Amino acid sequence: MKDFTDINQKELADWLKEQGEKEFHARQILNWIYQKAVLSWDEMTNLSKELREKLAKYIRLPMLELVSVTDSADQETNKFLWRLRDGQLVESVLICSGDRRTVCVSSQVGCPVRCAFCASGQQGFFRNLRPAEIIEQILQINHWLFKKDEKVSHVVFMGMGEPLKNYDSVIKAINLLCDPELCNLSQRRITVSTVGIVEGIRRLSMEGLKVNLVLSLHAPNQHIRKKIIPYARKYPLEEILVAMDEYSKKTGRDITYEYVLLEGINDHPDHAHELAHLLKGKQCAVNLIPYNPISKVRLSRPSKKAIKQFRSVLFGSNIVNTCRYTKGDDIAAACGQLAMQAKESNNLLQVIQEE
Ligand code: SF4
Repeated sequence: MKDFTDINQKELADWLKEQGEKEFHARQILNWIYQKAVLSWDEMTNLSKELREKLAKYIRLPMLELVSVTDSADQETNKFLWRLRDGQLVESVLICSGDRRTVCVSSQVGCPVRCAFCASGQQGFFRNLRPAEIIEQILQINHWLFKKDEKVSHVVFMGMGEPLKNYDSVIKAINLLCDPELCNLSQRRITVSTVGIVEGIRRLSMEGLKVNLVLSLHAPNQHIRKKIIPYARKYPLEEILVAMDEYSKKTGRDITYEYVLLEGINDHPDHAHELAHLLKGKQCAVNLIPYNPISKVRLSRPSKKAIKQFRSVLFGSNIVNTCRYTKGDDIAAACGQLAMQAKESNNLLQVIQEE
């Protein structure tokens, strides 16, 4: 059996011909999946029952089973919990803000990066998601939104997992999302967030894509960064920043740096000065995220005064920065960093230039 992302229109038409079926059904099938977000063969009503039965044996669909949808207290955020075919669970978050319908997708089950402040990181890493498992998060949420006459407008790879450690699947998913014949989403409405996988950033800059790139920086120097992001030991900060600059130069996209403010760890005005020095002269914006405490993690959010001081140092150094407080609501509590970052992505996307 194949995943639906492993077959293109021509291959599907060839298979239909072999089956004694009409080749034009290939276009109809892809249209059902990608444009109508229909992921059940039984609902594809312009195909015969016999053909639907053959398709069910040839292509795996659906890949995800919806376990639950949880609303945030402010109704702006919905967390979707999915069960994969092997029983593993992943999450996506839908953020509604004005006309924007942003989906924060997971790219892995668990995460190898183990950021000190993140619930997903504490669970460890299980496996990479397949392209179909990534795309289907967006398609199923689109299906859910269609009932309200809405659709997904932006996609951010900021959920569970490090997207550049599942490089091939993420790139394949992006290409399918942007294919005008399939999902037809603008590349500029897609954002990839990384902790700084240097070889991945370099490869991404060679893809000819113009997606937004965000670096989860979280520290003004390598010494503090290694404590917050154990995985960062592998990559010297200087090398990461050079790779990010190259990406910006090649694609013309500005870079956003995310910085989770943690009390007593990276929130001192000296850290702000060091950060300003690190980013001096770069075409970039800093997205400050005062930490949202979660259970079992002994880290705290800085005081409002400390956050204000930190920001005023950045402003004084002409570093564009935004800051948004997260609410300690049910979603953020249950889903930890995933929802927190997803909420921030609204804020983040406001500073990313659009087409
Ligand atoms: S914050 Fe992101 S990169 Fe860090 S452990 Fe959590 S999911 Fe992984």
